[in-house]
Amino acid sequence: MDIKYAQELLRELVAIPSVNPGFTHAPSETIGEEQIGAFLQCWARDNGIFAQRFEAAKVRPCILLETGPKEGPALLVSAHMDTVWTEMNAPFTLQERDNDLYGLGAVDDKGPLVSALCALRELNRINISLRFLVLATCDEEFGLLGIRHMIPDHIRPDGVIIAEPTNLKIVTAHKGCNRFAIQTKGQRVHSSLVPAGENAIYKAAELVSALKTYSAALLRDPPHPLLGTNTLNVGVIQGGTQPNVVPDACTLTLDFRSLPGETPESIRAHVTKALANCEADYDIIEEAYEAPALDTSPDIPMVKHLQKILSADGLDAEPHGVPFTTESFRPAECGIPTIVFGPGDIAAAHAIDEKIAKDQLLQAAELLFRLAVSRNWQRSDFMTSPN
Ligand SMILES: [Zn+2]
Repeated sequence: MDIKYAQELLRELVAIPSVNPGFTHAPSETIGEEQIGAFLQCWARDNGIFAQRFEAAKVRPCILLETGPKEGPALLVSAHMDTVWTEMNAPFTLQERDNDLYGLGAVDDKGPLVSALCALRELNRINISLRFLVLATCDEEFGLLGIRHMIPDHIRPDGVIIAEPTNLKIVTAHKGCNRFAIQTKGQRVHSSLVPAGENAIYKAAELVSALKTYSAALLRDPPHPLLGTNTLNVGVIQGGTQPNVVPDACTLTLDFRSLPGETPESIRAHVTKALANCEADYDIIEEAYEAPALDTSPDIPMVKHLQKILSADGLDAEPHGVPFTTESFRPAECGIPTIVFGPGDIAAAHAIDEKIAKDQLLQAAELLFRLAVSRNWQRSDFMTSPN
């Protein structure tokens, strides 16, 4: 494998704008996943790799590329084609500085996609026991349409690696994410008429204060070994129109990061418990369920084999937990063992100077390649207790 090739492929992918259409503040010409999909189909054809296109929605494709025996145990590496929008300089021109490659999507998630594609390209030249698939998804950054469309209806692999920046560490656990918009109502009057009217901001303030107390209490719960505790954050508050009016509505938005085992119901119960002693009345006007947490057993042979390969290179082979969510919830909820693993640092994602370490781009590709050829793979390699 060759870093020049990997770098060139990343340059081409970064040059195709693919900002998620959910980000309406992005310039319209930067939006779309369609062209990346078309590029990947051409790339597959040029490399003699079998590729299929699926429509998660209109002009929202997913591309599934594969090599190896159709009937073999299937390992799927999933990376997303869409990016967020940030006001970075020359977002679509890959630039090299020191040992880093800068560009929009360089680390999230086009770099990890390139690593997966480079491994696939090499594996396609040899005979392997594994059916090795690369899935390029749409809509990871917003509605998760792509992964939901694909798994399990179009593909049900035996194991999944979500290729996202983990600095080449094995991630077996991450938190889930739920959001709530909570509204208080008041009675609007001219501010000179206080104490008449009812101030919706004062009611919201009482809720915010209770949520702050509950947030501190959550941090004292017994921690999950890799993930710490549940956390919550009040991230937005909106209310009132002008200083001389008693406000009649106020809305706050709450983001809850959950541990494995929490359900939408148990998370809602946390919120109502947090607000139980408040006198202010409120309504939960919106509840968004982004993704549940991940908690894969590190005892699966798939994980053990990857650990061996990382150890042999002197890399950190311990299972890790991360606070961010990924597409992993979908295969995981279908009972498919899933981990997160990829090149680059998540701290550089969604940043104004998004970048990926050049060395890791190739290193991740080589590690995936070696994992695929490390043994004569069996379906039992993806089960917690092999029979
Ligand atoms: Zn990502």
